[in-house]
Amino acid sequence: AKNNGGSQYHVYHPDMFKRVAKRVELEGEVRQALLKKQFSIAMQPQLAAKDKKLIGFEALLRWEHPDRGMIPPDEFIPILENSEYMIELGYWVMRRCFELTAEFIEQGLVDVRVAINLSAMQFLDPHLSDYLRQLMRRFNIPAKHFELELTEQTLVSDIDKAINVMYSLKNIGFSFAIDDFGTGYSSLAYLKKMPVDVIKIDKSFVFGMLENHSDYQIIMSTIAMVKNLGLIVVAEGVESGAQLRSLTMNDCDIIQGYYFSKPVPEKELNEFISEKILDGYW
Ligand code: C2E
Ligand code: CA
Ligand code: CA
Ligand code: CA
Repeated sequence: AKNNGGSQYHVYHPDMFKRVAKRVELEGEVRQALLKKQFSIAMQPQLAAKDKKLIGFEALLRWEHPDRGMIPPDEFIPILENSEYMIELGYWVMRRCFELTAEFIEQGLVDVRVAINLSAMQFLDPHLSDYLRQLMRRFNIPAKHFELELTEQTLVSDIDKAINVMYSLKNIGFSFAIDDFGTGYSSLAYLKKMPVDVIKIDKSFVFGMLENHSDYQIIMSTIAMVKNLGLIVVAEGVESGAQLRSLTMNDCDIIQGYYFSKPVPEKELNEFISEKILDGYW
């Protein structure tokens, strides 16, 4: 029946089969990869624009596949997004972030703040807050060392629930960043209702900010608005000294990008911290 709803056609669309097959294959591989320890976390530094001091790191997931090499997170996280395997992988990421943060603190980064990306499904998982509390107890690290990065998409998927979860985690000390700001559809009115601490300007605006007038204007008005709301603004994807200077001059608080450092692989973190941070490299 032709008019029986367009959605029926989608079910039999060959691309859909491919996607589902791909996802099922990936789910099996993720389970294996967790057992075989193929995942790791790369940590990308975030620096205060004013004095170039380290504020903390964003934790970025890495998958070193034995046959396919390094698989970028953009290639598997979106596919896993509605799968329970994303929850499991997310738990692994959170636990590893606590372990690494414990090491940072032990190394002398006593105020370090680690930003953890949470997908919509992870954020709306009813066990999230129990899991985080458990990690805080087990590693004896207060929640102030962690910032949870949510995208505008996560927030609009179930706004009332998202706000409730945010307040409950905020109450125990976690802070929140809105990631990829400017790329979604969230209205600015949401910001008022949510206990948000940080806004991250998406790197797509930063890349061409000095060549493209509208990107420049978007960034500058976002910074002004964020500061007016009393929040902290982070620019990601900062690759040049010229971008850094322009952002700093215009009151951006925190800088993240290749100009200072690419994400640092787990194995190189000790050396990175002792050589570049504790020695005042910046
Ligand atoms: P994102 O959260 O927007 O992370 C920032 C991305 O920009 C990272 O890509 C980072 O390596 C890249 N980046 C930072 N500075 C620069 C720069 O100066 N130039 C350029 N060209 N790129 C820069 P990455 O690590 O490939 O991660 C891609 C996305 O995968 C992330 O985007 C995030 O959405 C997702 N992701 C990564 N780790 C996790 C995780 O543990 N959980 C979840 N749910 N998502 C994650
Ligand atoms: Ca992020
Ligand atoms: Ca981002
Ligand atoms: Ca440098």
